[in-house]
Amino acid sequence: MSEVYTGRFAPSPTGLLHDGSLVAALASWLDARTHGGQWRVRIEDVDTPRCVPGAEQAILQQLAACGLAPDGPVMRQSQRGDAYAAALQRLVEKGWAYPCGCTRKEIESAQAVARHSAAVYPGTCREGLNGKPARAWRLNVLAVQSALSLPDTTHWHDRRLGAQQQNVCAEVGDFVLRRADGLWAYQLAVVVDDATQGITHVVRGQDLADNTARQIVLQRALGLPTPQYLHTPLVLGADGEKLSKQNGALALDLSDPWAALGQAAQVLGLPAQPAQHQVLTQAQAAWTRQFLSRIS
Ligand SMILES: [Zn+2]
Repeated sequence: MSEVYTGRFAPSPTGLLHDGSLVAALASWLDARTHGGQWRVRIEDVDTPRCVPGAEQAILQQLAACGLAPDGPVMRQSQRGDAYAAALQRLVEKGWAYPCGCTRKEIESAQAVARHSAAVYPGTCREGLNGKPARAWRLNVLAVQSALSLPDTTHWHDRRLGAQQQNVCAEVGDFVLRRADGLWAYQLAVVVDDATQGITHVVRGQDLADNTARQIVLQRALGLPTPQYLHTPLVLGADGEKLSKQNGALALDLSDPWAALGQAAQVLGLPAQPAQHQVLTQAQAAWTRQFLSRIS
């Protein structure tokens, strides 16, 4: 592989980093350092109503306290609207994106059978709006797959989870590129940003693994490269749910950043509690053995 390794950590400024987000941050940093690559930080503030004022600065301070300093400038999705608009325009010109006039209620009622799964968009507006006002923009997944001779089921290899697959049409449907509230959809933003930043390796939490197939379909549609993926283990709270800002995970305790890093390293299966100030170097040595030996 001749390309320069470029990885990223992409937090949403909806709150402070917690023990779970530090695992993804540490893993992506270790992977970049071990490859002799670049480690970018991207602030995923595309969903502006959910962002908390001051959280971005606080997250960057938390990372710095843990010795995780980004290479190069920090990218912010809130400043990337022009790039997302250009990408949507390319898809519209290809006939691969269409406006959708459905309300959430209409989509859910069309899916009354599958009550316990997330509503799969049934493609109602694919052939036209039938007089409804346009609300969102969606990707015509079948049109992309047939035009580019892509298989119905998207396959990829995850460096930790192994062979993965998803049939995006059947399991997700034509997903949103621009939301009804005018905000850019997460999937489009991530795919465009990963390409702009030259990301070769995505290392992120396993809760995002099921976004990968959608992102690969979008990369194909936009003619962009597909990075390698590694999804890291999640930290579960006492209730067995993944730690998240939404379920009240506490912010990292930075009174002892080495202890916090040591815990994150253990979640990654790396040595427990080495000499405190050596957490990063020891974790890096172990990471080299465990992950780099498995992959090319
Ligand atoms: Zn629709």
